[in-house]
Order: sequence, then structure tokens, then C-alpha cells
Amino acid sequence: MEFEVIAKCPTTKARVSRMKLAHGTTMLPIFMPVATQAAIKGLTPQQVEALGINLILNNTYHLNLRPGIKVLNEAGGAHKFQGWKHNLLTDSGGFQLVSLNKFTQITEEGALFESPFDGKPTMLTPEESISIQHAIGADIIMQLDDVVSSLTVGPRVGEAMWRTIRWLDRCIEHHEKSGRTDVQNLFAIVQGGLDTELRDQCLDEMIARKNRVAGYAIGGLSGGEEKDVFWRVIKQCADRLPWDRPRYSMGIGFAEDLLVCVALGVDMADCVFPTRTARFGVALTFKGPLNLRLKKHAADFGPIDADCPCPTCANGTSRAMLHHILTLETAGAHAVTQHNLVFQARLMGRARDAIVGGTFPDYLKSFFAEYFGDKGYPEWCVNALRSVGVDLLEGREQITVIPGGAANWDRPHSEQ
Ligand SMILES: [Zn+2]
Repeated sequence: MEFEVIAKCPTTKARVSRMKLAHGTTMLPIFMPVATQAAIKGLTPQQVEALGINLILNNTYHLNLRPGIKVLNEAGGAHKFQGWKHNLLTDSGGFQLVSLNKFTQITEEGALFESPFDGKPTMLTPEESISIQHAIGADIIMQLDDVVSSLTVGPRVGEAMWRTIRWLDRCIEHHEKSGRTDVQNLFAIVQGGLDTELRDQCLDEMIARKNRVAGYAIGGLSGGEEKDVFWRVIKQCADRLPWDRPRYSMGIGFAEDLLVCVALGVDMADCVFPTRTARFGVALTFKGPLNLRLKKHAADFGPIDADCPCPTCANGTSRAMLHHILTLETAGAHAVTQHNLVFQARLMGRARDAIVGGTFPDYLKSFFAEYFGDKGYPEWCVNALRSVGVDLLEGREQITVIPGGAANWDRPHSEQ
């Protein structure tokens, strides 16, 4: 990997970087769409490419189950298997083992789980996770980590953090032995829950291994924790992670979360939210999410967003048409999915332009004003941005500030 920071916001911690991988150059900060089964739900790889997207995420757990490593090896890796010419990142499979499989037991050796096919006990070790990711051939691969929910408290959080460091060492050893370090880049995952001391200890250990990892992820968040705690952990990690390594915040997809994370120094993020919400008929716009299934759109003949260059808006597909087909035809979900991925790309593209142009604080202010309007700003966003020198309320004292909570699934500004 070649990684170079090319611009820095003089106020916040935001930066623009160029990340050159084996399948091309990706500019950061970026949002990565999730193609769980080697396909973004509702879109072909060619459609994703046509949207200008050049880095997507595949799930190791799912690809290992189906089509399986044998098929992927025969195909020559996941790029060839899915006809994707651009960059690819895989997770380690650990998160799915814990979240999808209630019988998973973590031991020092690895994660012991019940195969969903034949019910047999199956072990995923750090070495095996890396081997599977080698067969997939992703440009960026993730270490296997010991995942605990961000709501877990007590000694289990520390145990998981220290095990994650030991597993990182096993992943590094196994990866270095493979001779694939020039084409596949291993990222470490900072754990430690919501405990600042554990996070610091994890950062100490992982930063000490800097010369053997290509980048860092911030894990163990986005699990329903208070947003005011979430951003403080992101800031603590981003402030300490090495300047010359990309930083990836896992499971972040709401527009305001993305921009706050960028302001705190995050470069990459992924989430199923924009594609999942599209299938429920919600289009993302700079004026807030738009629920196209609502009756009021039945005779609304404008596009989702007249300024949007996505194929759905540019071809003039009306909100009324989308309202009509969303519950009848899968084409409705495809159309909104394309729009939502372009929205995420524009949101981050505008952030990059603003950072390069020295106007990122103004972009943050104008984004929040347009997106939330007079519905009120989430307090955690106001607090987080104040911590990096941007006061969203400056000159806008009339705006209501909505106290934070576990705001992940609570969208007060969503159109009802
Ligand atoms: Zn559009």
C-alpha cells in the first residue's frame, strides 16, 4: 500500500489521503458499501463500478460458507469471482460469528462455532481467518479480533482486548509468512470497549506494531452505546493512531456520524445502512432521509434530488414512480440503492473537496443546517465538533439541541 496524506483541515482533525492499492487508487475519507455475499444487495458489480465506487467490502464469514474457499481459489479470488476490478476489503469473520451464531465460544485458540450447514463444531482461528482472506484476495484484510458488544462491561472487555492483541500477533506472523504482504494489507483492530484506560493500553500495544500493519480500525463501537460516549472513543483513538496509517471506523453509515468521524480524523467507514434503508424505500438526501413509501409521494413527479447525478435522478425517475413500484417490483429497491450509494459518495466527496479547499468547517455548518433544518441538531454532534474547534450553533442560537442517547436507530429527523 502507498498511503499519503495530501491535505489537512487547519481547524479540525480531518484529512484527505491517497491510498494506492493493488486494484487502483482510492481517495480518503471514503464510505465503503457492503457487498456481504460478494454483491451489493440489488446491484451488479458493473452497476456499482458505473457509480464511480472503487472500494467495497466483502464479508469473510459469508464467503467462507458460500461459495467457499475451494471455489474462490479455483476462480482466482473474489475479484475474479464477482467481476470486480477495483479495491476490496474483507472483514475477519469474527463479528458475524458472534452476532449471527449464538453458540459461538471464544477460546484462546479461536472462535468455536456450530456450522450453520451441518451443525458440526468448527473453529475459526486467527491464522485461518487470514488464510481465508488470502483465498479471497482482498486488497485490505482485517485481523481476527475478540468481539464483545459495546454494552458489555466488566472483566470480559479487558480479556477481549488483550486477546485481540495476541491474535493480532498471530495474524501478523501468518500473513508475513504468506509472502502476500505486498498485495494484501493487514489492518489491526483497536478494542477496549468504552473504557478509556483499556483503549489506551490497546493503542500502546498496537501502535508499537506499526511497522507490521498497514492500517488501523476502531472496533467495538456502533453497538447501541450512547453517542456521546461513541464519539469520545473515536476521538481518543484517532488522536493517537499514527498519522501515516489509514484509520477505519467500523459500522458507521449515517451522514452525521460520517462527517463527525471525518472531523475527528477518521478516513474510512462502512455500514449496511444506506443499502438496507433503500430496500425499505428510504432515499437519503442532503435535506434528510425521504420515505418514498409515504402516500404523499404518490403524485410527486420530481426526482428524489434534482441535483443528484445518480442514474435514478439523472434519468428523471419520479418519486411517484418509485412510490408506486417500491412494494411491487425489485427495480424500485435497485433504483433507490443506486441513489443512496451516490449520496454517500457525494457526502464524502464534498468533505474531501472542502478539506482540500480549506472550507471544511463551513461545509459541516451548511450540511447540518440543510440536513436537520429546524428539527434540531443532535447534541452529541454539537459536542463532538466543538472538541475540534467547530461550533455548529454559532450564529444559529435558535436551533434546538436534541440530547443524545443511543441514537443509532432513533432518527428524530426522519420524515414520518
Ligand atoms: Zn439520485
